[in-house]
Amino acid sequence: MSCKVILSKEISSSYREELKATIKSRGIKPKLVGFLANEDPSAIKYAESTSKTCEETGVVFELRKCDKEQLEDQIIEANDDDSIHGIMVYYPVFGDRQDQYLQNVVSVSKDVEGLCHKYIYNMYHNKRFLDEKQTMKCILPCTPLAIVKVLEYIGVYNAVLPYGNRLHGRVITIINRSEIVGRPLAALLANDGGKVYSVDINNVQEFHRGTGLKLKRHEVRDTNLKIEEILPVSDVVVTGVPTPSYKVPTGSLRDGVIAINFSAFKNFEDNIKEKASIYVPAIGKVTIAMLERNLLRLYDYYNCQSS
Ligand code: NAD
Repeated sequence: MSCKVILSKEISSSYREELKATIKSRGIKPKLVGFLANEDPSAIKYAESTSKTCEETGVVFELRKCDKEQLEDQIIEANDDDSIHGIMVYYPVFGDRQDQYLQNVVSVSKDVEGLCHKYIYNMYHNKRFLDEKQTMKCILPCTPLAIVKVLEYIGVYNAVLPYGNRLHGRVITIINRSEIVGRPLAALLANDGGKVYSVDINNVQEFHRGTGLKLKRHEVRDTNLKIEEILPVSDVVVTGVPTPSYKVPTGSLRDGVIAINFSAFKNFEDNIKEKASIYVPAIGKVTIAMLERNLLRLYDYYNCQSS
């Protein structure tokens, strides 16, 4: 077996070191507030890891537990508090469209998760900067961004190609099309030149920029393809199915596939290492590093430009 298993700690370490050094050398105290209004064990675990990583890197992190009915008012209060530079909410709260509403209650200037309409719109439209002079990069949703960083780390992004086209020729399957992770990730990877098969419980869609990347931003089409047809032709398979029983059949995967799991459950079978060239079993630490990176960007863009 020649599979290389890469842990998220390894991938995130250079980002954590850079964050730590920047915060220390500039003598700043960026503050992140996380709102926990549910009892979801994954959310609680995520909040604990965020707290630990923030402490290590020098970010001030405050977890505020509240009743979901009070959450909106609490977010508004945090929006108006100049001592807070970033706000995040542990979803799901209501588990429906009300969560989307709450994502837009968070001020654009404090949205470390990159989930408000402005950032999501820019991402889908492949608009990479917030200003005309192209000095302020857009904030990207942190879990999809973390997966981009994982793909960069393991060399799926081809640095010889121009920025923006570095996934040209790669075929990537993403099994998850949630609005928080799977769909934005498919769009990001297709905008970067990849051919992406996006799988959800209902169907397979293809996200791409056309032959020779002739389109400026991705387009999407429904397909009649079955997952068994796309797995053997995929260079990379990214999974995020939130059920313990779901397993990608190793037998259907291409020899040498790159397998990345972001679900809280192991979506690959135990024998994945017999087929994969690289296996990334979890990405949580990279997500938190991206959260902190977004926080520092927002700190500079909107909050404390004079400090
Ligand atoms: P979700 O419930 O919103 O979405 C699940 C997606 O999986 C949907 O698109 C659904 O259609 C698809 N799906 C479900 N069963 C399927 C099947 N049998 N075949 C194909 N597709 C199927 O969940 P979510 O918010 O996207 O989270 C998914 C998982 O990722 C969870 O385990 C969550 O804890 C984890 N997560 C991890 C991070 C991280 O940074 N590590 C961040 C966010 C979410």
